[in-house]
Amino acid sequence: MDDSLHDLRCSEDFKPTVAAVGDFITKHIAPVSDEFFATPNEENRWALSDRQTEILEGLKAKAKDAGFWNFFLPTWNGDGISNLDYAYLAEQMGRNPMSSEVFNCAAPDTGNMEVLERYGSDAHKQEWLEPLLDGKIRSCYSMTEPHRASSDAANITHTVAVKDGDDYVVSGEKFYISGAGDTRCKVQILMACTDPEGPKHKRHTMFCVPMDTPGIEVLGPMHVFGHDGAPHGHMHIKYDKARLSSDMVILGEGRGFEVAQGRLGPGRIHHCMRSIGQAEKALELMITRGLSRKAFGKEIIKLGGNFDVGARSRNEIDMARMLVLKTAKAMDVLGNQEARTHISQIKAIIPEMVCTIIDRAIQLHGATGISQWTPLASMYTGARTLRFADGPDEVHRMVVARNEIRKYEGLDA
Ligand SMILES: Cc1cc2nc3c(=O)[nH]c(=O)nc-3n(C[C@H](O)[C@H](O)[C@H](O)COP(=O)(O)OP(=O)(O)OC[C@H]3O[C@@H](n4cnc5c(N)ncnc54)[C@H](O)[C@@H]3O)c2cc1C
Repeated sequence: MDDSLHDLRCSEDFKPTVAAVGDFITKHIAPVSDEFFATPNEENRWALSDRQTEILEGLKAKAKDAGFWNFFLPTWNGDGISNLDYAYLAEQMGRNPMSSEVFNCAAPDTGNMEVLERYGSDAHKQEWLEPLLDGKIRSCYSMTEPHRASSDAANITHTVAVKDGDDYVVSGEKFYISGAGDTRCKVQILMACTDPEGPKHKRHTMFCVPMDTPGIEVLGPMHVFGHDGAPHGHMHIKYDKARLSSDMVILGEGRGFEVAQGRLGPGRIHHCMRSIGQAEKALELMITRGLSRKAFGKEIIKLGGNFDVGARSRNEIDMARMLVLKTAKAMDVLGNQEARTHISQIKAIIPEMVCTIIDRAIQLHGATGISQWTPLASMYTGARTLRFADGPDEVHRMVVARNEIRKYEGLDA
């Protein structure tokens, strides 16, 4: 292994913050999160209820006061924090489903804010980045298309933006656009094809688009295992001759691929970091439940192959954590682009591993495991979708395999 990737410790300066954020989650978020999810808005499922708003906004204000806000920003507390330090923090956030939003570190907003911060115009920053950074609005990222195999970004040619005077006219469809159902979602980062015949990486343009633009219609939610995911939702969106001004272009015409690459590096790794926290939570639930119930005269965790189940889960989590930390370090030392094989390694491994561990925890709970009485069913659903979101497992394995083959290609047998 590259020597520069050996030291995977959290920096001494940042350790107290990780501990304090962990305490904040335990003391302030965990006691109210069940109530938050149990009090949806009965009149409009796509908006938070008054009680949910009260809980969430109260927690956000407390987090802001403590300085636990926008940790992902390169300017957090002056110089920002390293990806490695962020990994320790994200694992804490992964343990509770409300945490990321409380600290304004939730997907897809973090990736979108990074895009606007890095590539947006002054007007984009003023109109959209500022309220996003302030936690006043939410956003979505519209790339995947129902009519194209979207795991290959070059394929995304159904939604076209045709130049008309100073404007672009956009027609097409997107689906599984996370967060677009929420009434607080006010802006989308849209990838549209501006030059279908152009070179593979110059075909697309990225736009910063208000959700209420005429011609843009959110048709409804795509379901995940039968659930519509309200109020967040993974939405099906139609563009019917929507007129976008050229001021909405991000970075420049034909530079959409570049923006997408810049966005997806940290976003992919944040999901994996949080997933380690989810796996820890699943293991904790598995063991505590297995100790609390007896069958055939013994605690369930001590029956049959269940020793093995616990041991394998611990081993896999610890291996996965090391790989995530190594990837975070690689991003710090080598940069996002050079670290892309590391990123693909964890994206291909962690969501699958977390699914397996949550599934084992479900099994050990018996029927209760798939019920509404534990968070496991919803955790499983979320983890399973991560095997597609930001690229399916196979595409990431392809990146890893190509890198391996490249090392030997051309060598004499
Ligand atoms: C819950 C959820 C949320 C999402 N949120 C968003 C979002 O906010 N914004 C957004 O734009 N998209 C989002 N997506 C979409 C996601 O990014 C795409 O589903 C993913 O990129 C795959 O594209 P596709 O569905 O078109 O699959 P396809 O491209 O049709 O691929 C289908 C399958 O083909 C196989 N395959 C593909 N390439 C290879 C290969 N190289 N080698 C071997 N097999 C391969 C894989 O098994 C893959 O699953 C979300 C998806 C889900 C499920």
